[in-house]
Amino acid sequence: MSNDYKDKVEDKDILDKGDTVTNEEPVEKKADYEDICYICRRPESKVGKMLHIPNDICICSDCMQKTFDTINKNGMPYMDLNNFQPGMMNLNNNLNEIPKSQKVKKKKPKGEKASEEEVFNIKNIPSPHIIKGELDEYVVGQEHAKKVISVAVYNHYKRVAADALDDIEIEKSNMLMIGPTGSGKTFLVKTLARLLNVPLAITDATSLTEAGYIGDDVESVISKLLAAADNDVEKAEKGIIFIDEIDKIAKKKNVNNRDVSGESVQQGLLKLLEGSEVEVPVGATSKNAMVPMTTVNTKNILFICGGAFPDLEQIIKTRLNKQSSIGFSADLKDKYDNDPNILQKVAVEDLREFGMIPEFLGRLPIVYALEGMTKDMLVKVLKEPKNAILKQYKKLLQLDEVQLEFDDGALEAIAKKALEKKTGARALRAIIEEFMLDIMYEIPKDDAIGKVIITREYIEKKGVPVIEMRGMAKGTIPQISQNAN
Ligand code: ADP
Repeated sequence: MSNDYKDKVEDKDILDKGDTVTNEEPVEKKADYEDICYICRRPESKVGKMLHIPNDICICSDCMQKTFDTINKNGMPYMDLNNFQPGMMNLNNNLNEIPKSQKVKKKKPKGEKASEEEVFNIKNIPSPHIIKGELDEYVVGQEHAKKVISVAVYNHYKRVAADALDDIEIEKSNMLMIGPTGSGKTFLVKTLARLLNVPLAITDATSLTEAGYIGDDVESVISKLLAAADNDVEKAEKGIIFIDEIDKIAKKKNVNNRDVSGESVQQGLLKLLEGSEVEVPVGATSKNAMVPMTTVNTKNILFICGGAFPDLEQIIKTRLNKQSSIGFSADLKDKYDNDPNILQKVAVEDLREFGMIPEFLGRLPIVYALEGMTKDMLVKVLKEPKNAILKQYKKLLQLDEVQLEFDDGALEAIAKKALEKKTGARALRAIIEEFMLDIMYEIPKDDAIGKVIITREYIEKKGVPVIEMRGMAKGTIPQISQNAN
């Protein structure tokens, strides 16, 4: 059957269904076809009258309304709403319509002299001992980590400054930070970025997947940094990116299908870590037609990866035991079993065994471990840092002209409770908030209260805090019963 003949038969079929074709009747009626909404695909019988726009496109009133609502809420780049008529786009590139979050700050012309307030002037980089001294004021313990990070950051920014001077390449000092949860990894990086006045982006490796799969692709971390730098590309190019939970992208063992959230993410990160030009969306974490793009060079971005690496201790122990049980220096098999600082002995081969690929590890030349929190460290975290939690509460009560004190036993009891939770310093705040609730509730009731002393008994729910009234002679301390539960 030739095609011509087939067409004729089909036409005839349509006509046979009882429609007579006359010149006056609309063409659509010929075959009882309904209009279908171009967006939601519902027919006219369901959604009512359609709006017709050029190119034979029909849109139902619901979808039209939704489109307008979205435009009103989010704004729409490249569309001038004042002159907008349905079906007509104004392609005049009206910059006023681009939301601020999507505008990129202009780059300075090349060769222009650095301005006075620029942070990364080679003379302005504080030397490592000053960086560490500043960190000491906020971060308790972790002496080794603070020292390593101070030197690495110093070298990194020295390298950034030297880059412009000559062409001897100094290698990048990306870092891998290993430490149990709540030991201060994020806190350390945040403090550092604040001290150095550089933009910081913190991301979670678990949300990353290979491009094209559900999740963020690796380049989204650069978008975040750009946002943290107020879309100033130049500032972002000297920022810090902290990728937390990096142990979660270890190569999965015994998988046959593609490892899109593990090894592939490590592969994807390689080019960022090393330094490359990356095209990123401005003001969004995913690329789409509506978002403007810009290019960011990652050559001078400092990458710090952090993770708890559970079970790494076992891998280190096995390696050390294997080494020490050979030859004359053979040791006892359980020599490392009770070593609290076993993580400090980490070597690249242990991380490889854990599932990190060699190319990835090669781009993180500085590897160090943080100590797990001990009771003494937790007590110090409570009271020593510049913005310690206890200092914050003291200040709050000071505003009511009430003195707050913690006796040593109370601090120890809090630290002990926190240790039991096994989440490091993270547990402290929750514990304190729990028992401070009653204090913060009861104290403002009575203007006569001048001082509150938190005791070990109160923390252990065996007693009450000591309350001192204003203007009372010492020694006559009434003990107001507080609801300790
Ligand atoms: P993680 O190692 O899991 O990233 P964080 O850095 O998020 O832990 O720590 C949680 C909180 O505990 C921080 O916000 C900080 O207040 C406190 N903290 C943890 N470690 C320390 C430390 N060494 N010194 C002072 N505060 C700390």
